[in-house]
Amino acid sequence: MKQHFFTEEHDMFRKSVRDFVTKNLLPHANEWEEAEDYPKTLFKTLADMNFLGIRYPEKYGGMGLDIFYDIVFYEELYRSRMPGLCLDVMVDTDMATPVLFKHGTEEQKTKYLTKMIKGEAVFAIGYTEPNAGSDVARIRSTAKKTEGGYILNGSKIFITNGTWADYIIVAAKTDSTKDHKGITLFLLDTKTKGFTVGRKLKKLGHHTSHTAELFFDDCFVPENMVVGEVNKGFYYIMEGFQTERIMGSVGVIALAQVALEDAVSYSKERMTFGKPISQHQAIAHKMVDMATQLEAARQLAYNGAWLLDQGEDATKEISMAKLYSCEVANRVTYDAIQVFGGYGYMEEYPVARAYRDARMFTIGAGTTEIMKEIIAKRMGLY
Ligand SMILES: Cc1cc2nc3c(=O)[nH]c(=O)nc-3n(C[C@H](O)[C@H](O)[C@H](O)COP(=O)(O)OP(=O)(O)OC[C@H]3O[C@@H](n4cnc5c(N)ncnc54)[C@H](O)[C@@H]3O)c2cc1C
Repeated sequence: MKQHFFTEEHDMFRKSVRDFVTKNLLPHANEWEEAEDYPKTLFKTLADMNFLGIRYPEKYGGMGLDIFYDIVFYEELYRSRMPGLCLDVMVDTDMATPVLFKHGTEEQKTKYLTKMIKGEAVFAIGYTEPNAGSDVARIRSTAKKTEGGYILNGSKIFITNGTWADYIIVAAKTDSTKDHKGITLFLLDTKTKGFTVGRKLKKLGHHTSHTAELFFDDCFVPENMVVGEVNKGFYYIMEGFQTERIMGSVGVIALAQVALEDAVSYSKERMTFGKPISQHQAIAHKMVDMATQLEAARQLAYNGAWLLDQGEDATKEISMAKLYSCEVANRVTYDAIQVFGGYGYMEEYPVARAYRDARMFTIGAGTTEIMKEIIAKRMGLY
């Protein structure tokens, strides 16, 4: 069906990503989910397909395409049934590196952004700390000025790609007397002395994602690894959240869409009381509600993406998309299990996994409650 956000070129791109995912990722889903791991070389494979620089300019090795190509990419990548792997890739290309592209120096872009696009380096983004998640301004990691650079101390938690990142965009206080006005972003090479990776964290879902605690003990970060201006980090983080939240919305909708499709197929085969369960009105209407809510969420996300691509301040619309899509996807995956009955509760059925994987999205990249706070402020309620 025609969609006004997508052209024939987007459709052709969709076909190529779908073919890639069907041939190269889907066959490994059960094995990699079970192992809670996959080969890091996958980033190189994705880069060779030009999937890691979709929106970045050609001069850095990217494709210079619009945001809807990125959306197509994630909608198809989530068909791999490995949301953890998808999150790792999303953090690498659309969450950690955009700030480098937007505010980094030409040298940083040529030297480091290009490595990510070629699949030669994996990136992470480190904001969250044991004592500060939603309240980013309260981070305690510090970066003290020294000759030729900064000395970084502190720790981070829940960091995606943390176990194996080659570079991390780290937020630290350069002025501890200030809240949000004292934060600076640094590009940290993980080979830096004093940097260590703690535990790989065991999670409810997103099992293929590489989530870790990180520690910085007197890490020297040279002056030329400051990203953007000193003490402007908080503003860059807030700006970057807009892309993160749109891509997160697209991801969770895609995840729930797969669960819905699974439920529909199963409902046509499973017989009770002499007919397929899809023909029991309660089940049919449940799936109608699932599809309708997902479609509404999708259109909110597409609209937010379009506004973002136009350079508009779409903070309210994007927060609404994130809020709605994450909540809806949790309801849809819950209902998908209901359609499957007891089988849905069994680990070997992908809907059980989808239900656990969806749960993360109302927390990561800004919780549901924080989305409501942002929207309330934009509505002039506070
Ligand atoms: C799988 C996973 C991957 C992640 N990856 C990364 C990553 O790569 N990099 C990174 O930096 N972080 C990452 N995070 C961290 C994530 O962004 C934080 O968990 C999130 O921002 C919430 O912070 P918190 O966990 O400290 O919860 P808190 O901020 O402590 O919130 C706890 C509860 O209080 C609520 N709350 C807080 N403040 C308010 C308020 N003002 N009004 C109403 N309710 C409020 C929250 O909504 C939540 O329900 C990841 C998290 C997960 C689970």
